[in-house]
Amino acid sequence: MKEDNHEPDSEDEESWALYADASYGQSKVEIEDSSEALESDEEVWYDGDDFEFEGATINWDAPPCPAPLGIEHIIRIGCCNFCVQRLAGRRTASKGEDGGKEIRKEAYQRNTELESTLKNDLCPMCENLFDDVDNIVKRIIEKIGEVDHSTIQLGIHLPKDLVEEEDRIRSRHGSPGSAPLKPSFVNEIQSQLSNLINDITFVKERPDLMILVDGLTLMVDVDIRPVFMYGRYRKLIRNLPQTRWPCRACRGRAEGCESCNQTGLQYPESVQDLIGEPIRISLAAEDTSFHGMGREDIDVRCLGTGRPFVIEIKKPGTRRANLEEIQKAVNDNAENKVEINSLRWANRKEVVKVKESRSEKSYTIRFKVEETPNEEEAIKAISTLSGVELSQETPKRVAHRRAAKNRKRKVVSLSNIIVEGDEIQFSVRCEAGTYVKELVHSDEGRTVPSVRSVLGDKECTVLWLDVEDIHYE
Ligand SMILES: [Zn+2]
Ligand SMILES: [Zn+2]
Repeated sequence: MKEDNHEPDSEDEESWALYADASYGQSKVEIEDSSEALESDEEVWYDGDDFEFEGATINWDAPPCPAPLGIEHIIRIGCCNFCVQRLAGRRTASKGEDGGKEIRKEAYQRNTELESTLKNDLCPMCENLFDDVDNIVKRIIEKIGEVDHSTIQLGIHLPKDLVEEEDRIRSRHGSPGSAPLKPSFVNEIQSQLSNLINDITFVKERPDLMILVDGLTLMVDVDIRPVFMYGRYRKLIRNLPQTRWPCRACRGRAEGCESCNQTGLQYPESVQDLIGEPIRISLAAEDTSFHGMGREDIDVRCLGTGRPFVIEIKKPGTRRANLEEIQKAVNDNAENKVEINSLRWANRKEVVKVKESRSEKSYTIRFKVEETPNEEEAIKAISTLSGVELSQETPKRVAHRRAAKNRKRKVVSLSNIIVEGDEIQFSVRCEAGTYVKELVHSDEGRTVPSVRSVLGDKECTVLWLDVEDIHYE
């Protein structure tokens, strides 16, 4: 073929050398640039006057559609009725395939020889893709099954060379402004789906169902998009983790593990599941994932108006629910352990908002001092911590999962100091991300200053901690 005659010029040789020599990861952009340059060179070269198309010489003198000769031309090169209709630029009584038939009929009447010169080849514009629409629509409907939805986003993957070739022919012979292959194909599928499924809307973002069609293999993938709910939870008991903890012994594998009774869980219950399971069940969903505004330690309660959270409900079978009923179902299920309020619909953006919130938090903390302090002196000393900026090294207890760093956190206010024998309790409001237990016991001097330091380096042991409020909205 003609490729053999192609003499690479010196610039091409250089590009090839660059391509071959470039080491991994280096000048990636350059490599891509040079290969593109090669491609475009080839393209220019292929656009020769004597270009052969399926054995028949293309008449480059044919004017573009909607000129009758242009229409004749696209018929002659083997366009299917769908593509004739979208390229012709003529008004037709029907759309799509039937419109194409009308145009073809007229063209045959104008030129009686046209019909007899045709061969039954693949349509060069779509490779007869439109013939597969029925099949694709059938597959989509099968895949959707009973899943509840009202909006669909449809994505089509087409081979790049088909798209490029279609674009080349269309821009040369199609009527100005004729619809490209991809949107035309998408439209055709959508209009057939609309005929078969009631009450669906096609959208460009945030669909209930994301449907991807591979135009080459005709594979159909239906992705059920998650739904989100926002609420606040109060954790009324200690020794309840916020999220599921995989069993330490089997690392969540569950099977045959005696230590977790084959549940795969270190703790049988979590805030995540106490809230998530009733929701998952009422939406017939596959799973949930829990996004809290920060977390409390397993032994810490969370009171006040509760901690904001967004729950992501994955692959829901239904997307409609009575939120009041769901909130009641959760609260009945988790009675005396967890309680939710303010439940409403949310979206993915709120996950980020909740995760990134830097809301201040208020706590009550109680601890034991190694020797009984003088009440007045202790209150005076601890009060000096109100308003200070803490310097906190990553605590030892979380060092295994957090990078070591030093952070500055402000103690906004500290009040209600109560001294009862060797036990002290106070309320404190801090900047987000403050390690409050460390503020008391100092974590061996890694938090400065601390209650321990202002009490004259007396050892302080935290008895309990409650989150009293999260100051969000
Ligand atoms: Zn076609
Ligand atoms: Zn286990």
